[in-house]
Amino acid sequence: MYTLIDGKATAAQIHAELSMEVQNRLNQGLRRPHLAAVLVGHDGASQTYVNNKILACERVGFRSTLIKRESTIREAELLELVRSLNHDQELDGFIVQLPLPGHINAERINEAIDPAKDVDGFHAINLGRMLLNLPGYLPATPAGVIELLRRYNIETEGKNCVILGRSHIVGSPLSVLLARSATPGNCTVTLCHSKTQNLMEHIQRADILVAALGKPGFVRGEWIKKGAVVVDVGTTRVPDASRASGYKLMGDVDFESVAPHCSAITPVPGGVGPMTISMLLRNTLDSANQRHYGG
Ligand code: NAP
Repeated sequence: MYTLIDGKATAAQIHAELSMEVQNRLNQGLRRPHLAAVLVGHDGASQTYVNNKILACERVGFRSTLIKRESTIREAELLELVRSLNHDQELDGFIVQLPLPGHINAERINEAIDPAKDVDGFHAINLGRMLLNLPGYLPATPAGVIELLRRYNIETEGKNCVILGRSHIVGSPLSVLLARSATPGNCTVTLCHSKTQNLMEHIQRADILVAALGKPGFVRGEWIKKGAVVVDVGTTRVPDASRASGYKLMGDVDFESVAPHCSAITPVPGGVGPMTISMLLRNTLDSANQRHYGG
């Protein structure tokens, strides 16, 4: 029998902890942590993600600001908005929701964000600090995976960890976090991507498998080593006429066939997704407490 790694319940626990810390701040006469989110355009998934972040802020007692711009915004205007948010003394952190319209260079926008307010942890300075094992903002989704492993006491030391997907926001930073000398950490990491040969053979050796591909149901039960821990980061909206929303969320793991082979597994939804928001809030509170660079 496998353990279901419940990201929703774990996130609720973290939110309760954050609420208490906010209350402590208020008791000391300090202001509420303040997160802003910039949403460009009207992409349905992005709107949902941003709304969930704003709602989560309210739940834990943060102040939040939602800044909406049309998809026709020019890059120079968005850069100007980023600069004004960098200088806003009332703001502890902000995010610019991805993806951005094609005419905007997302890297240029990312690099314009003040690293001290980069609570998504995507800026080169924060990624570099992570690589050097220095304090800083960790990217929210990889940090959420690490926190789940920590809170579920999953042994990682010396384990073979296989990560499917090498994006800058999930797979690559997670490979660094799992390989570094820390707990959780000390894994032997294999980072796979679309050019990896004999992918199945790598997966079959995994004590810990992380799927972050964006390919619904890609990972099949017959590939899984007995007793492996499987973390499914994938979240793809798949059309489903039977639901009011018109879609369902699917992970990269075929849960039904994979779960019986596992010692522990995350579901989709309710696994890594809620943890991403929790880590974003954690980063924002650390910023408010001036603790993000180890202060
Ligand atoms: P991405 O930027 O599209 O990267 C996908 C990665 O998968 C790439 O490295 C790609 O390889 C690799 N890949 C694609 N097909 C493959 C195949 N057949 N075999 C091996 N590797 C393959 O995606 P992402 O932004 O990392 O997101 C991945 C998934 O996680 C998506 O479903 C996304 O929605 C989800 N996600 C969830 C959260 C959350 O909070 N739960 C947060 C972020 C992302 P190449 O590099 O060679 O192209």
